[in-house]
This record gives sequence, C-alpha cells and structure tokens, in this order.
Amino acid sequence: MLSTMQDVPLTVTRILEHGTRVHGDATVTTWTGEGEPLRRTFREVGERSVRLAHALRDGLGVVGDQRVATLMWNNSDHVEAYLAVPAMGAVLHTLNLRLPAEQLAWIVGHAADRVVIVSGSVLPLLAPLLPRLDSVEHVVVSGPADLSVLEGCRPQVHDYEQLLAGHPGDHFDWPELDERQAAALCYTSGTTGEPKGVLYSHRSIYLHAMEVNAAASFGLTPAEICLPVVPMFHVNAWGLPHAAFMAGTSMLMPDRFLQPAPLADMIVAERPTVSAGVPTIWAGLLAELDARPRDMSSLRTVISGGSACPPALMRGFEERHGVRLVQAWGMTETSPLGSVAYPPVGVTDEEAWPYRVSQGRLPASVEFRLTGPGGEFLPWDGKSAGELEVRGPWIAAAYYGGAGAEPVRPDDKFSPDGWLRTGDVGTMTPDGFLTLTDRAKDVIKSGGEWISSVELENHLMAHPEVAEAAVVAVPDEKWGERPLAAVVLRDGAEVEYEVLRAFLGERVARWQLPERWTRIASVPKTSVGKFDKKVLRRLYAEGSLQ
Ligand code: ADP
Repeated sequence: MLSTMQDVPLTVTRILEHGTRVHGDATVTTWTGEGEPLRRTFREVGERSVRLAHALRDGLGVVGDQRVATLMWNNSDHVEAYLAVPAMGAVLHTLNLRLPAEQLAWIVGHAADRVVIVSGSVLPLLAPLLPRLDSVEHVVVSGPADLSVLEGCRPQVHDYEQLLAGHPGDHFDWPELDERQAAALCYTSGTTGEPKGVLYSHRSIYLHAMEVNAAASFGLTPAEICLPVVPMFHVNAWGLPHAAFMAGTSMLMPDRFLQPAPLADMIVAERPTVSAGVPTIWAGLLAELDARPRDMSSLRTVISGGSACPPALMRGFEERHGVRLVQAWGMTETSPLGSVAYPPVGVTDEEAWPYRVSQGRLPASVEFRLTGPGGEFLPWDGKSAGELEVRGPWIAAAYYGGAGAEPVRPDDKFSPDGWLRTGDVGTMTPDGFLTLTDRAKDVIKSGGEWISSVELENHLMAHPEVAEAAVVAVPDEKWGERPLAAVVLRDGAEVEYEVLRAFLGERVARWQLPERWTRIASVPKTSVGKFDKKVLRRLYAEGSLQ
C-alpha cells in the first residue's frame, strides 16, 4: 500500500524561495580587501536571482537543461548563480579556476557550456581560452574587470550588473521541476586521475543541505555566520551556500582573499561562527596566528576535510588559539558530506582524540561497507582494512558522459550492485567511526605489507621543526615499494633526517621507517590545495628529488 503523504519535489527553487522570504534579513557579505565589504540581504540576493534567471532565459536564450558555467570566487554574485540557474531548470557548472588551461578547455567542451559567468579578476585566465571554447556563446563578467583582454573575442560579452539591471526582479515563473533532474555539475579535482563530472540532482542537493544543517554535521542556524573558505567550485563549497539559504545562516564570502592574513582579518572583523576548508588552508592560518595572534573567539567550529587533517594541526589550533577543528570526510561523488568526526558522548577530552582524528561517524543516509581484495565484505572491528564503498541519496550512481551522451559507470568506480567505490582504504569501528589509512593509489606496498603514508605524514608533521611532510611510494628492488619522506622544515629550522627517523621510530613499527628522505621547499598542491603526490612520484622518477 502506498502512503497517503504528499509527494512534493525537493528542489533548489524551494531553497531559493524559502531563504528569500523567510530569512530575507540574513546577509551574504563579500570581503573586498581594503574597502568596505559588499553586503546583500537574502532578500536582495533572491531578487537578483530572479533578475539573473530572466537575463539568462529572456536575454541570452538559455533554455531547458543547458549548462551555465561559473568561473568565480566565493561571493554573493556566485550565490545568485547557485540559486537561479538550477531553479530555472538549467544546470550550473562550477569551473575550477585553478585548473591548468588545457583541462579547463576540455571540461567546458565536455559539458558544452553555453554561458560562462566569470569573476573580473580571473578574466585574464579565461580570455586566451575563448577561441577554443566553441560551445560558449556568452561571457558575463562579474565585478571590476579589464575588458580589453576580451577585444575581438567571439562570444558576446556582458557586464553582470548591466545585464541584471535590464530585467525585472519581482517575479519569475519558476518551472515545476522533477526533483531527479540535474541541477549542478562539478568535476572531481583529479588528485588521482582525470577529472570526472558528477551531476547533482535537485533532490540530492536538497537532502544534502538538510544533512549539513543537522546538529551532528555543521549545525547551521539563523544565529550562525558561516565562512565557506572551501571554493564554490570544490563540491559546491561542500553544500554550504544551499544549506545556509535553507537555514537562514548569514554567509561571509572571502572572494579572492584566501591568503592567511586576510582570512584572519576577516574573521576578526566579521566574527563568523563556523568555517570549512582543506587542511592546507588551516595550516597556513595557524602559522599566521602563531606569528601574529588574533581574536578567533567567534569560531565555534572549523570543519577540515578534503584530505587527512594532521592531529598536530588540530591540537595547535585548540591549545594556542582556542579554535576547535572538526574533521569530515567526503568526495565530489558524495556531494560531499560523508562522515563527521564528533566524539561519542561521555568521553573525556583526552579520550575524545582518537575519535576526533578519525574521519568520523556516518550519518543515517550514507551507508558504508568495507571490501577486501577478493571482493569479500570485512567486519567493522576497527582493525580489518579494506576499500570503502558507499551508497545513499546524495551519492553518485554514475558520471556525466558529456553533452548528449549516456552516463558512464566505470567498473573500478562502481560495484556491480551500484555502490560507489571510493578508492579510500580504511577501517570501521563497530559504532560507525571511519579511519582512513590511505587512498588505494597512495598506499605503500612493501614486501606484501601495507604502509599508511597518511600515518607517517601525521607523525612527521607533529615534529616541531616540520612544517609539512608528504610520504610517497617509490620502487624498491627488494621490497617492491618503500616510503620516501619529503619534508618541508619550518623557516630557519635545521634537523638531521636521523633525528626525524628516530622520532618516527618511537611511533611506528621499525619496518615502516623510511630510508629515503628528501627536503623540499613546499609540498606540491592540487587545484584545491591537497598534497599532489603524483607530482612527487614523478619528480622522484625523473631524479629531481635529492
Ligand atoms: P579528488 O578525488 O580529485 O581529490 P575530491 O575532492 O572529490 O577530489 O577528493 C575526495 C577524496 O579526498 C576522498 O576520496 C579522500 O581520499 C580524500 N579525503 C577527503 N576528506 C578526507 C579526510 N578527512 N581525510 C582523509 N582523506 C580525505
């Protein structure tokens, strides 16, 4: 028997209308560096979203599920695109402005983007690519820009403000959408392979936003101010703009001011209560605060995700600056919220650490299982390590196949029964805490045993003289693979490799200790600030690491 309940589609339109009407006084504040921040209420953002939808449909002729791309920093214009484009039935494609030009051009072509909305400050990046971007008919420039770089370009160029000014903001006839329809497109950042497109549905975005707002996740409320440092092109800024519009949470947007000093300044000035970003951002901010302490007391929670958060970083923030870092795990394919590492109730502060440095506990809507090398399912005993597979209402079932093409389901990414193979290796405790030991591609296979590169890195980064450390597998005649430790020392620090080796020796088994060491100026990073171990492995193979 079917239920007697209403079947109302879960759509981004609902989030837009709710935030605009019910939380109209909440604000999106965009940091502008030297000048006054730009402040807009949700009411204004909603009205401007209506104008944008008219401009895209009536002005630029966007119809159906055509793709509207953004190449933008985190700012309020970008929030407008986040809401208006899916609500009008089109697909928002967030382009990663740190990708190499070749990859960017490929992705725009793959998605057949018709319109690109671009932040003026990144126009010089887009302009040289335009002759190759055959699908792009319109470029809309947001914020101050040097338009001379676009002279003679084929697509029509529009100024965002002028475009909006020419269209009404009072009403748009939002279409009735199927909640399973595509709303947003985001490509993986390609840490271990080529970028792959994930097409989020209205339903997946809506349900994910509700989970973000749950107390066991980010717990956004109208009393909070949220600072998404994670870029809006990195898995929809982890769903925060949608969640904030749903909850009535004001947003502080850093725009292009992502360096540690302006981040510290904007936290002092605007007093956000919640923030989120990758560990590299927090490591930079911690060094800035250690050098020039600032008042961080507004921050109740800082979520660190995207790669393993070194425990020393968590402790440093907490002990020296009173800021609590909370680790979360997720992927582009998981929208991204997977697990969040709040300790169970009833444990002391010290007992909480093993839970806090784990990747966290599962929410009800995301099912996990661990798979062994032979495809067998492993027990949740906190010891058996296997590949993590997940499924749930905001987990990808396939990748976008490109304009007009069928979705693709590579066997190495999806199990025959439809679960997502994450490529992450870890253990689960009986009560649902996930600890990742490595990415399958980063694990070091030494003489039939696995060495966790993340574990070695975390211990090394706890050494007072070490600023960053990355450990990669390198070929070894006897053992197959052995770890190479690439370390970045703090400014002015000098320490022998033997000392670091002895430091590690007190923390891990002897056979795991690296015999190969190299000192580097900084760990290469991917476009979203993760350690780029592909580059380190290549440099070693070329003989460029001494
Ligand atoms: P890419 O796969 O290109 O790096 P994603 O941002 O989707 O792009 O990366 C997801 C991956 O990041 C996960 O599969 C996992 O390996 C890693 N990751 C995310 N969060 C964490 C975390 N808290 N700890 C360890 N690894 C993490």
